[in-house]
Amino acid sequence: MSSDVTTVVIAGHLIDVDAGQVLVNQAIHLSGDRILAVAPVSDGIPEGLPVIDLSDSYVTPGLIDAHAHLIGELDTGHGYAGLVTTTAARETLVGVRNAAATVRAGFTTVRDVGSFRAFTDIALRDAISNGWVLGPRMLCAGAFITVPSGGGDITGLAIDVDGGLPRELRFGVVKNVDEVRDAVRRILHGGAELIKVIATGAVLTEGTTPGAPEFNEAEIRAAVEEAALYGVHVAAHAHGAEGIKRAVRAGVRSIEHGSLMDDESIAMMADTGTYLVADIYCGDYIEETGRRDGWSENVLRKNQETTDAQREGFTKAVAAGVRIAYGTDTGVYPHADVALQLPYMVRHGMTPMQGLQAATSVAAECMGWQDRVGSIAAGKYADLVAVAADPLATNLESLTKVSFVMKGGAVVVS
Ligand SMILES: [Zn+2]
Repeated sequence: MSSDVTTVVIAGHLIDVDAGQVLVNQAIHLSGDRILAVAPVSDGIPEGLPVIDLSDSYVTPGLIDAHAHLIGELDTGHGYAGLVTTTAARETLVGVRNAAATVRAGFTTVRDVGSFRAFTDIALRDAISNGWVLGPRMLCAGAFITVPSGGGDITGLAIDVDGGLPRELRFGVVKNVDEVRDAVRRILHGGAELIKVIATGAVLTEGTTPGAPEFNEAEIRAAVEEAALYGVHVAAHAHGAEGIKRAVRAGVRSIEHGSLMDDESIAMMADTGTYLVADIYCGDYIEETGRRDGWSENVLRKNQETTDAQREGFTKAVAAGVRIAYGTDTGVYPHADVALQLPYMVRHGMTPMQGLQAATSVAAECMGWQDRVGSIAAGKYADLVAVAADPLATNLESLTKVSFVMKGGAVVVS
């Protein structure tokens, strides 16, 4: 073994999210971009190799955001019609900035759940994986699958410009089961590895209603079945309880937001093992920033109708044993602040270890990437974060200011 080791990282405290325990004085043996072994320092350290000494720190796996939007400028709070005033090139290059901010905040992996500009996220993903730009590993949705005038469409335009939009802004707009299947295929052929269905209205899309279902169950099931032919999961944006139930019955991998979940939908998620990815910090950001900057009154009203309800449902979901993966909706709020939701996970019912697992091992399972990321274990990517103060003793607050980040064996922050 030791002949293959290229670097050793010494962790004073190593948080083992798989076992749910903290180990002291561990040596993480790396081989290139992977972890080769984890062993007590007392077992000995190979001589003559680079050593990264984090013996004063708490080391966690690289963090994972299962609901990010890396492409484009932050939301303006006035819907998405304004996207016609910018270009895909600009949106994508802003994404380069956002990707760097995300990984520097300790998030070495994201599930990017879509952009209004089809496939810009795929271009960013490939630029990162080729080493051209700095950013997290990305699992990308490519485009939103949405009904016309739905939560993932460009709404708020005058009626006579509706048909004149660039195709890339309406790539996943579909009207029936057959069109759903077509859209899934086209999006996967475009390089996506995840399908995102907008099952209900949205807080930030003008004119839509978060509580209102937009797809019927057969349409969501068509997406799930077609994606499954390619070994791909479906994530369903769903705020209202009826939309959540349709999506769970249709077999989606995860419910995104889940803001207005009722007891029945929580029980269904618990029974089926459907992941809940609830952005329980974002509402505070929208309220504060939206009031200050004069966001649309409709957006602010919808945000108020969903924020507290989502947190109450989240607490119930934790108690019911629903699998919960960390997901933030950055893109609505700044990517550098992606960790701000971690303390909220604890405030609303999780233990600190559960909150950290949501942002590491459970998020990795939700993505189907548990073979490569989500814990500090042999065979996985050498994605590591370190902080000075114990995350578990600070209700995860200390992770909002990371002091060290490694992605794939390369030091990003130190
Ligand atoms: Zn989102």
